[in-house]
Amino acid sequence: MEKTSSGVTRLGEAGIILRTVKSFIQSLPAATLVYGEDLLICCCNPAFTALYGFSDEELRGKHLGTVFSEDQLRSQVPLALESARSSGSWVGTGLRNRRNGEELMASIAVHRVCFAAGSPGLFVDSSSDNSAQVVQRRRSDLLDAVMAQISDHVVAFDTNGIIVYANRAVVNALGRSEGELLGRHVTEVLGPINNSEGEFTNIVDLVCTGGDWSGNVMLPCFERSMPKLHVKATVLPSLEGLPGTIVALGFEIVPESMFRSLAPEGSSKLGEIFEFSPDGVALLTVTGKIVHTNEAFRSLVGLGEAMLEGMSELDLSPQRWHEEIRSQQSRLLARGNTSFEREYRRSDGKVVPVFTTLCLIRDEAGEVRNIGLLARDITEIKESESQLKEMANTDSLTGCFNRRHFFELGGREFFRAEKGSHTLCCLMFDLDHFKQVNDTYGHEAGDDVLVGIAGLAGKSLRASDLLGRLGGEEFCILLPKTTLPGAIHVANRIRHRVQETAFSTCAGPVKITVSVGVSILDGESHKELKDLIRDADAALFEAKRQGRNRVAAAGDGKVGVVGVL
Ligand code: GH3
Ligand code: MG
Ligand code: MG
Repeated sequence: MEKTSSGVTRLGEAGIILRTVKSFIQSLPAATLVYGEDLLICCCNPAFTALYGFSDEELRGKHLGTVFSEDQLRSQVPLALESARSSGSWVGTGLRNRRNGEELMASIAVHRVCFAAGSPGLFVDSSSDNSAQVVQRRRSDLLDAVMAQISDHVVAFDTNGIIVYANRAVVNALGRSEGELLGRHVTEVLGPINNSEGEFTNIVDLVCTGGDWSGNVMLPCFERSMPKLHVKATVLPSLEGLPGTIVALGFEIVPESMFRSLAPEGSSKLGEIFEFSPDGVALLTVTGKIVHTNEAFRSLVGLGEAMLEGMSELDLSPQRWHEEIRSQQSRLLARGNTSFEREYRRSDGKVVPVFTTLCLIRDEAGEVRNIGLLARDITEIKESESQLKEMANTDSLTGCFNRRHFFELGGREFFRAEKGSHTLCCLMFDLDHFKQVNDTYGHEAGDDVLVGIAGLAGKSLRASDLLGRLGGEEFCILLPKTTLPGAIHVANRIRHRVQETAFSTCAGPVKITVSVGVSILDGESHKELKDLIRDADAALFEAKRQGRNRVAAAGDGKVGVVGVL
């Protein structure tokens, strides 16, 4: 075979080529496989059979996928073939499938032979097992795991600029899958690498001739802009001593410099606002790592500057907030800012409610440089909020649930009882001749009686029971998982206790009685809570009608008095 200036080996006719190639490879010590542009295998040599277990006969006409891993077919094979097409050969390492299912790491050389320029050629692919490379592979597996975890952006490309590896940070930053990135030109993905050193090819030359290169790269993003990255590129020497893979490692731009642009040195107003703001302010990198905090932020989380640097918001928040924080981060990227309430866990373990605002900080060119975080301690707001909530839900005189909240909680209880098929009883009670109490002792004393009755009823109940004041001197109680006799028993107990109590009021002790109506949930006639209450109310009416200070129960469509004196 004669090598031309382009590196492509030319021979006579196609048939002759194949026969010649076939006889040529027979004696080669390296495991050699010959395949066409269509990736169908033409032949292999005995060394190949010895190493991989596949015979020439069984491989003939088969697709390359038989001996190449799927990964390789997708990433390395196109590269190798393209390189062999353009420069005559490709040298590298890769995985090969053995017949027994094992994968073997091999050093590979691919040469292209053809008989006329531009016509389909054959690829002569020779590989040799190298046990040192197995070790290498283990190391590279380890390296892979490390690369996947680190937040720096790592891209590896060959000397033609074709990407052969991109770690998770790059995949996340660009919003494209690894598969979409592999095989593409690095400048297509990372954007033009232009700086004082010049064009991409100059940089590659520089790196290949032994020097490392570092400079800035602008990542073009698809829906948002990314910061400039400070990139360091270096070449990994291949085993053959040929230029191998170039690895570019991207660091985020030194954050301090960005902070300086935010708050210039000296007594800038912005700097002062940052430093002395009563709200916590933090500057984060685009990946969410803290680089700078003000005094208020540090005291909010109870950590010093050195501890906070490099921490993320996830480190500062209890686990239950992590999902929300992550979803707010994507919201931030989509909208430019976001505000939400969550909690920080202080260094002393105390959990503090905070209201945070996150915003993207851009430079004059509109590029996102950092994330700004404002955090306000809302402990007091939260406390008064819960007081307000309590006020909205309870009756201010007696402290039991008001009508609205009773119906809200009671509605849930009704639903639970229906779904869970357990019993639910309702007691309605009303003070007897209460008007007379008001008339005799005054309205204020009447109020005191109402407070006393609510307290007494509350003490007669379980924690799971609900007590509400539905109107002036009408109370309702829900007793989940209670039978009708059990509910009647509770009603009589309350009635007896009221009867026996002299309620202390501003006008002295006052005695009073109550009448109680009892109902039990019956799926047929009770569609909602108010139906159950309606029946208890009917029983209460019956208790009143029959003379007061008694308990009446509604059940099976009947209402009857079940407890007197
Ligand atoms: P009955 O045995 O039939 O229930 O007789 P009653 O006098 O209790 O009659 P009714 O239930 O119709 O009267 C309710 C009275 O309760 C009227 C009103 O003066 C009094 N009342 C309602 N709300 C309050 C309140 O918040 N404080 C005071 N002190 N009295 C109230
Ligand atoms: Mg009444
Ligand atoms: Mg009354």
